[in-house]
Amino acid sequence: MEKIIKGDYYKRSYWLESLGKIEPNPSLKGEEKADIAIIGGGFTGLSTGYHLKKYDKSVDVKLLEAEICGYGASGRNGGFNMTLFGLTPSLTKTFFGVEKGKEARKFMEEAVDYLAGFIRENNIDCDYEGSGYLLVATNKSQIKRLEHELEVAREMEFDGVEVWDRNKLEKEFKTDKFLLGWFEARCGILHPAKWVRALKEKVEEEGVKIYEYSPVLEFEKRKNPPDGYNFKIKTPDGILYAKRIVFATNAYSILLSKLYRYQTPAFTRIVMTEPLTDEQMESIGWKNRAGIEDARDLIHYYRLTKDNRIVLGGRDVGITYGRNIEKDLDERNFEELKQYLFWVFPQLKGIKFTHQWGGPVSITLDMAPVIGYLGKDKNAVFAFGYIGHGVSATFNTGRTLAELLLGMDTDRTRLFFVGRKVFPFPPEPFRYVLSQAIRGYMRLEDKIRYGES
Ligand SMILES: Cc1cc2nc3c(=O)[nH]c(=O)nc-3n(C[C@H](O)[C@H](O)[C@H](O)COP(=O)(O)OP(=O)(O)OC[C@H]3O[C@@H](n4cnc5c(N)ncnc54)[C@H](O)[C@@H]3O)c2cc1C
Repeated sequence: MEKIIKGDYYKRSYWLESLGKIEPNPSLKGEEKADIAIIGGGFTGLSTGYHLKKYDKSVDVKLLEAEICGYGASGRNGGFNMTLFGLTPSLTKTFFGVEKGKEARKFMEEAVDYLAGFIRENNIDCDYEGSGYLLVATNKSQIKRLEHELEVAREMEFDGVEVWDRNKLEKEFKTDKFLLGWFEARCGILHPAKWVRALKEKVEEEGVKIYEYSPVLEFEKRKNPPDGYNFKIKTPDGILYAKRIVFATNAYSILLSKLYRYQTPAFTRIVMTEPLTDEQMESIGWKNRAGIEDARDLIHYYRLTKDNRIVLGGRDVGITYGRNIEKDLDERNFEELKQYLFWVFPQLKGIKFTHQWGGPVSITLDMAPVIGYLGKDKNAVFAFGYIGHGVSATFNTGRTLAELLLGMDTDRTRLFFVGRKVFPFPPEPFRYVLSQAIRGYMRLEDKIRYGES
């Protein structure tokens, strides 16, 4: 059991560390039954549990989390509540066309508004700031790219996108590196670990039973069980029989044989500074406090925390071989991120970095999320593939999964990416080679076109 459970959640991000000691829920022991079993206690699994109970109090829902709720990407991310679906609007257009692109955008606008509204209406303490989202171009190639994305956004009727020219950007930030901006006021930033743990409490208040330190080792589909409990789910110390099952394991789905070919984990890393002094804050501007991304392939993303630290991530991603789900740390990546901050804001030279961490995001071959059924009888559902844009999407996806499980017909259950065909990755070693090739292409494009120098 020690080998399976790592128990090191507090080392996995500043956000998780900042929560202090967490008293985990007891793990699953002995035999239990549930109408619906949820595997994975990140945003997706918790949101599914919450919405199931909201829609139908009588459903018996139990959730199994391998570590603590929020251990995965949900407790480690940048905390951007943002509208982006897939890698870029133009790639979404290429893969799915304009009409489906519009549908996806509507879902994401709804997702951002729904999450911000939920946090506000429930007084959730997660340092939420509705400070917007800014996508900036920092060189000529990025300007061209951003202009093209803005055209696609107009074609797909995106709501709420403002264009910020250089003048406006120079008023907002004390850097000469921001040349053109795409700004969305509806977006925001939050403390992801506070949000995921607050959501866990909400889910429990609604009556979902959550077991932590309960990794699912195996699950078995029972043949015509007389009692209707179609699944037998094994953890180190217990068995859960469930009528229906939800896989909310995102990048960790690589560990589950039925799902592992449909997505692959990619590791994105973050560095964080000490809190900026008032003088340092004054020296960089950034009074609007928007979360910022640039227009590279392998983007940089950065934001302020409540106590004015800068959290900065991206620039590269880590790829693993086979079922390896550990590649959070990369010194070269961390060092490049630090240097990038000084490139944007040279006035911060000398500031100390206090934390660095990383985590896995889930990538599908077409870089778009999927909500799907496993098997023909619709008793098992899953969702993954949000790439680095799952903070808003997961909350709305959990609502959609609940609607599917309860047989509801809504605008969300009719979305094109519900039940869509997902291209499988090839088996190893070809998966690794393909993933490396995609990353290599993006790195090269960034080096010769979209890089900052
Ligand atoms: C460093 C980083 C930065 C990011 N920044 C942003 C951002 O700023 N904005 C944004 O929108 N998105 C961002 N993302 C993406 C976002 O965090 C994810 O899309 C989202 O958290 C996915 O939530 P999830 O619940 O689907 O998956 P996870 O949070 O990964 O949850 C999966 C859970 O399943 C559990 N699990 C796995 N296997 C088992 C098993 N066998 N049995 C039981 N439990 C199991 C895991 O322990 C984990 O807790 C970022 C991701 C990372 C890693």
